[in-house]
Amino acid sequence: VIDKSFLYAGRASYVVRNPQGESVTVKLSKSKEKLNPRTGQPWPTTFYVNLRHQNDAWQYVGALRVDSAKIIPTPKAQTFNQKAIAVAEWSLKIIRESLALPAGYSIDHTGRCGKCYKLLRDPESIALGLGPICRG
Ligand SMILES: [Zn+2]
Repeated sequence: VIDKSFLYAGRASYVVRNPQGESVTVKLSKSKEKLNPRTGQPWPTTFYVNLRHQNDAWQYVGALRVDSAKIIPTPKAQTFNQKAIAVAEWSLKIIRESLALPAGYSIDHTGRCGKCYKLLRDPESIALGLGPICRG
């Protein structure tokens, strides 16, 4: 089961499937911590969202603030598969709010650690989506 701690671990990747077996894979990469030079305070944490529909090429769709499930799209995202972007936003809301999925839908991690992206091997890591070191 994927939850918020997996989602925001830094390098989370997961697959959303509908009852027809169609898939959207989503990857969230955490921005490096940067200070706002004017205030000296850190910028809010941002995640860069990449996705792929089925086996299409990966596309960078935009940025996500940790306090929202809305992707701030890059201008190029207008030319992408809008349904795939909508599925990604929908899945972010499901995971963030631990909502139940409609029948036949699934959301699973891709077998890689949500924090360091290494392959997960033992059953506990696979269940959590985080490897033994990264789950602390
Ligand atoms: Zn890890």
